[in-house]
Amino acid sequence: MSIAYAGFTITRVPMLTDNYAWLVGYEGATAFIDPADANAAILAVEQAILAVEQDGAKLDYVLLTHHHDDHIAGAKTLAARFGAKIVGNEADAARLPSLDIALKDGGTLDFGGSKLKMIATPGHTNGHVAYLFGDAIAACGDTLFSLGCGRMFEGTPEIFHASLHRLAALSPDTMLLCGHEYTLANARFARSVDPDNEALMARAREVELMRQRGEPTLPVRLAVELLTNPFLRAQTPEEFARLRAAKDKF
Ligand SMILES: [Zn+2]
Repeated sequence: MSIAYAGFTITRVPMLTDNYAWLVGYEGATAFIDPADANAAILAVEQAILAVEQDGAKLDYVLLTHHHDDHIAGAKTLAARFGAKIVGNEADAARLPSLDIALKDGGTLDFGGSKLKMIATPGHTNGHVAYLFGDAIAACGDTLFSLGCGRMFEGTPEIFHASLHRLAALSPDTMLLCGHEYTLANARFARSVDPDNEALMARAREVELMRQRGEPTLPVRLAVELLTNPFLRAQTPEEFARLRAAKDKF
């Protein structure tokens, strides 16, 4: 279940029907991202951490990407169980569970000698953020999905497009931890708007096989999305707006 990547340990934690929460570890530091379901989150932390540490599970941070219930509902219980600190966007604190650490855009925390950085990625909601672990991992919640992006509930096309550009500018080797397993449905839409894209065809075929076998399609490297994701590849806010509107009706 766990993946080793650039010194980090990534554990995918399925929740609800199609949500993914994530546990990230580095040199003894641990963070849990978007715990919708406290029981599933606690179990995952105990299993992952007890596997390497005999003397009791520990969790440093509970990171929240945005205020939707399917990303925060288990935060308080999970944090209380392990004495972890709840971290979120200061600008959206009123809509989040009570924050122990309120970060501003660009704010950082020490993470086992590596750096954990919050960047603002508004569009799905106004207060949405992503968390970068060193230059290796981006937990991007409902901003960016494989072959798609989140619905534009609060932002404008200009704002959402700028957030996607921010993610697109990260190292192509960045591993993306997205908030939902929507890749198969996203692939159908992506192929309809970019039918001649060979990299997209290949990824769509791979995704179909993975889902047939019951396998998750995430995490995914940014390099793959840069070649295949129509929303990430949209050159202008206008193009992004057209795609977003078309996907909403697809
Ligand atoms: Zn959401």
